[in-house]
Amino acid sequence: MNSYKGRCICDPIFEDFKWIGLAIALDDDLPKKPGVYVLRLALSRDENLIALRKRILEAYGIARDILKKANWRRLTKNWSPRIERINRIDPLTCPTIYIDGAGKGKGTIRSRFTDLAGLRHTIFPCILALRLAGLNIDFGYKTVNTGQEAFKIEQELIKQYIKIHGKPPALNERIKINNS
Ligand SMILES: [Zn+2]
Repeated sequence: MNSYKGRCICDPIFEDFKWIGLAIALDDDLPKKPGVYVLRLALSRDENLIALRKRILEAYGIARDILKKANWRRLTKNWSPRIERINRIDPLTCPTIYIDGAGKGKGTIRSRFTDLAGLRHTIFPCILALRLAGLNIDFGYKTVNTGQEAFKIEQELIKQYIKIHGKPPALNERIKINNS
């Protein structure tokens, strides 16, 4: 199920990850273990990256529309700052959009995968909007034995990613990075 075709200079830092299609996987496909997980845009070999960037802007527009139509103040307060992150996604720079750890008080790879589907995940509105715009996303993960270890690897991955790309993945929270 490896739909992602590696083509970014950051690929080596995710070398030992397993990849599945976010939208087609179900709970049983994911391990109940701590670890780190990564989201990246699924690219075909002949992907037109400029067209892809247009669809990302479309996703941003869809998210804004949902808020406008829902006309729900508290939802707008929750979602507005998060959906701004969609604009930071630039497939011409990097298809990786998110890196996170699971385990340190934040469940397992499986529970975070479940959270991401509308339960309680910060970037749920971004991922929903990307899906509504027809984008495919791959979910990559690597398991470890303890939450502590997961946290360490998460920090290390983000550090390496920043070294390569000069900034964290588009959908990662900026504040969290500054503290690491
Ligand atoms: Zn990259």
